[in-house]
Amino acid sequence: MSGIEDLLREDLRGKTPYGAPQLDVPVQLNTNENAFAIPEDVAAVVAEFVGRELRGLNRYPDRDAVALREDLAAYLGHGLTADHVWAANGSNEILQQLLQAFGGPGRTVLGFMPSYSMHPLLARGTATAFVDAGREDDYTLGPDFVRAAITEHDPDLVFLVSPNNPTGTALDREVVEAAYGAARGLVVIDEAYAEFARDPGSTALGLLEGRRRLVVTRTLSKAFAFAGARVGYLAADPELVEKLLLVRLPYHLSSITQAAARGALACAARLQSEVDELKHQRDRIVKNMRAKGLPVADSDANFVLVGGLRDAAAVWRAILDEGVLIRDVGLPGRLRITAGSEEETAALLDAFDTVLERRP
Ligand code: PMP
Repeated sequence: MSGIEDLLREDLRGKTPYGAPQLDVPVQLNTNENAFAIPEDVAAVVAEFVGRELRGLNRYPDRDAVALREDLAAYLGHGLTADHVWAANGSNEILQQLLQAFGGPGRTVLGFMPSYSMHPLLARGTATAFVDAGREDDYTLGPDFVRAAITEHDPDLVFLVSPNNPTGTALDREVVEAAYGAARGLVVIDEAYAEFARDPGSTALGLLEGRRRLVVTRTLSKAFAFAGARVGYLAADPELVEKLLLVRLPYHLSSITQAAARGALACAARLQSEVDELKHQRDRIVKNMRAKGLPVADSDANFVLVGGLRDAAAVWRAILDEGVLIRDVGLPGRLRITAGSEEETAALLDAFDTVLERRP
């Protein structure tokens, strides 16, 4: 009799699923969530939006989430309309749908690791070959590097992340232009952290017009403190958006999710003040780490990648013993830290002081 492993698709055998540790630690700065709970006044608005849907839950939701897409388009600006926007359960599902429709068996997606660890996993799940072009020595990406990699591999899709996870840095506009110019297929810019960028003009949204193969993905998980609601979206050419309907599950986005997201979007300005506070705490971490002699690049995200650690795994463990959970992303000498509240940042910096004193 064959075991379950033998019945599994061959390309999935022996593989491990995505798994950021979810440990019960007082200060959790490891998954790039928004550190702040939803403020009471925002929660009240979201509850009102959701409450209006409850009696109608006997019916399926709007399959095409039109009202939500209108709100998302209005939030994004840049002349975008609901036709340019598509929404799903987190930008993970958006990326998966892109791979289902434009990748798949016999097709290739090109990525530049270290970057978002789910990209190769989403490729694997959709039986799309993932090719890692790597990065320059300091983990940056320039236009020549990107152009050469695309020319060499001729992928069906290119995934770029800006600001990049785990390095925290946004891409220059020239990199996106170079990628688009060199690619034959889709160029997807994963902008999950766009609202935290130092330069708000660094988004690729302004490049969409006239570039029909360019896609910008976004999420409410980070800037809107809405990770638990699972809402991600993209902006692209309306014809490309229409093709995604071929692979989406019918009614994939529940009425409750759609309503909750619309409630959060109605409070965009209110939530922005918390984004500003997180950017402040992020910059405080950068400054402080530099003062300790640890190299760290300026960040455009709600996290920073700290370098200069002789034994990153040991430092990670020792920081955890101090009650602070950060992320060992497997890069030699480096650890990733999500920006938290003022108090969480203080606890983090104290923990680093204690640990580095013991283990310089
Ligand atoms: N893209 C990047 C670069 C991310 O870091 C994350 C979350 N960690 C996501 C996409 C997925 O976010 P979500 O599915 O919650 O929208």
